[in-house]
Amino acid sequence: WQKLRLKKRSKDEMYEMGKTFNHMITKLEENFHKQEAFVSDASHELKTPIAIIKSYAQLLKRRGLEHPDIFGESVDAIHSEADRMQMLVEQLLVLAKNEANVLQEKVDFNHICETIIHKVRGVHSREIHLSINGVNRVTGNKEQLQQIIYILIMNALKYSEREIDIRLYSQTDDVIFQVEDYGIGISKKDQERIFDRFYRVDKARSRDSGGTGLGLAIAKEIAESHGGTLSVQSEKEKGSVFTLKLPKAH
Ligand code: ADP
Repeated sequence: WQKLRLKKRSKDEMYEMGKTFNHMITKLEENFHKQEAFVSDASHELKTPIAIIKSYAQLLKRRGLEHPDIFGESVDAIHSEADRMQMLVEQLLVLAKNEANVLQEKVDFNHICETIIHKVRGVHSREIHLSINGVNRVTGNKEQLQQIIYILIMNALKYSEREIDIRLYSQTDDVIFQVEDYGIGISKKDQERIFDRFYRVDKARSRDSGGTGLGLAIAKEIAESHGGTLSVQSEKEKGSVFTLKLPKAH
C-alpha cells in the first residue's frame, strides 16, 4: 500500500512537473517571439531614416552644387533624419539596459520633478501647473525616474495645445505622480496599445514631432522595474491623465 501511494504521488508529481515545464516552454516561446518582433520593428524603424539619408545624399551629389535650394533642403533633411536615428538608438539602448539597472538610492521626487519642470519651462512657453503635496521619496535610479517624468510631460505638450496640470502626492504606501492634459485624448482601443514598443496612434503626427513610439514603453518598463505601475485614463478629444504609482521610500 505504501508502495502504491508512493507510486501514485510520484505520478502526480510528474504530471505537475510536466505542466510547469510546458508552461515554462510556452513563456520562453512567447518571449522569443516578442524579442523577434522587437528586433524586426527596430530594424524597420531604422531603415526609414537610412533610406531618406541615402536618397538625399544622392540628390546632393547629382544636383546640390548647381542648386543652392536643393543643397539646403538636402542638408536639413539629412541632419534631421540623423537626429531621429540618434534618438532611436539612444532609446533602444535604454530599453536594452533597463532590466538589470535599478539602483537602490533614495530619490527626492519633489526635487527631480521641480528640476525637470524648470528645464521644460525654459524651452516651452506653455502653462505648466505644478501641485506638490508633502514629502515624496522613492527608492531607485534617479536618472531613470527623471526620464519617466520627462517622457510624460513632453507627451502632454506634444498631444495637446492648452495648459497641462501636474500633481505629486503620497498615498499610504505609494507616491503618485500625475500628468493631465486637455488635448486630443486616446480611444479605449488605443489605450491598450500605447505602452507597446513602437505603437503610435497617428504615425505621421508622432514622427513630425520627433516621436519614436518608444517613450511610453520605456516609461512603463522603468515604472515596473521600480515595483510601480504606469496607467492612463483618457477620453478622445477631451484629454488624458497618466498616473505613475511608485512604492514610497520609508
Ligand atoms: P511617441 O514617441 O510617438 O510620442 P510614445 O510611446 O511616447 O511615442 O507614445 C505612444 C503613442 O501614444 C503616441 O504616438 C500617441 O499616439 C499616444 N500618446 C502618448 N501620450 C499621449 C497624450 N498625452 N495624449 C494623446 N496621445 C498620446
